[in-house]
Amino acid sequence: MSDSDLDCKTEHVGTAAPDCPAEQSLAVSTPNIQRRAFLATSGATIVGLALWQWRKPAVLQASSLSSEPKEVTVVLFSDAGQRLKQVRVARVAKTENEWRKQLSGNAFDITRNADTEIAFSGKYWNLHDKGIYRCICCDNALFGSATKFESGTGWPSFWAPIAAENVTETRDTAYGMVRTAVSCTECDAHLGHVFDDGPEPTHLRYCMNSASLRFVKSGQG
Ligand SMILES: [Zn+2]
Repeated sequence: MSDSDLDCKTEHVGTAAPDCPAEQSLAVSTPNIQRRAFLATSGATIVGLALWQWRKPAVLQASSLSSEPKEVTVVLFSDAGQRLKQVRVARVAKTENEWRKQLSGNAFDITRNADTEIAFSGKYWNLHDKGIYRCICCDNALFGSATKFESGTGWPSFWAPIAAENVTETRDTAYGMVRTAVSCTECDAHLGHVFDDGPEPTHLRYCMNSASLRFVKSGQG
């Protein structure tokens, strides 16, 4: 994402083009005096960026375009675990730098880059207190202790999210496997994966990363 952002900034400085992803490369010459003046003063750096960009597949450039909705539907919960109401909220979108400032390195790698924590290393896999688990990135309520079960995997496991609206499931074909990834509806944080070998009543196993979650203890389950 940052790479694409860099491209956009470079393009805009050089050409004032309003539509960055449609641009092909700075290497394409145009009779633009402003650009020539800019290139003359910026020299090697810009040429280097242009050559580097030239090798990038178009699909990566297009990734800077977000097709995500600006508003999403989630269900609000109190810290005591009480379901409050369904609301439309602005989707949380931050830059990579903003997420890095907010999150630990581990949480950033997992939530923003879909990494996975080492089994039995997180702080919640063996937690049995009553409460709710919120998104480490945006505080969206994700899971409740009432659906948490001991899976033996070393990752906190639940048989259902706290509200279907609050998590989003997508097909994940990384690492040569076909899995269903689970993310936060409100901020798109990667949370983990869901499998169909869980206990009753759903037979689902939401296998989450502790680092994606923030536990809020309560007297209710
Ligand atoms: Zn979130």
